[in-house]
Amino acid sequence: MEKPEKYKELSLMPALITCKCPRCRVGKVYEHGPYSLTNRKILPKCEHCSLIYEKEPGYFYAAMYVGYAFIVAELVTAALGTNILSGSDNPWVYLGIMLPLVAVLSPFNYRYSRILLLYFLTPGLRYHPEMS
Ligand SMILES: [Zn+2]
Repeated sequence: MEKPEKYKELSLMPALITCKCPRCRVGKVYEHGPYSLTNRKILPKCEHCSLIYEKEPGYFYAAMYVGYAFIVAELVTAALGTNILSGSDNPWVYLGIMLPLVAVLSPFNYRYSRILLLYFLTPGLRYHPEMS
């Protein structure tokens, strides 16, 4: 009896953090890094397994909801941290911390909201180790 071929399984977290394709975990989803000023576009398809990332026009609009959850979690954490560390009641202190935080974290939110949408919220899209 022939043994099934053993595939090298790639871990989820490194693939997710480095924004690799959710199906093969080898190909890149983004062409450039998160803080690239020149290009933040998602590649049209995986260069390794040819998965088309945008399944239909406007597919990534759903990533707005994931990004919304990110920003709420970040702002609540920042507000609690500011309150604990400064104890201030002045709203300008909170605004002065939160506005730069939103600007600094927006590339992260943009990038990982789409990655989480692809990895966990896309029906029928799962990891195929035989494509690695
Ligand atoms: Zn792929």
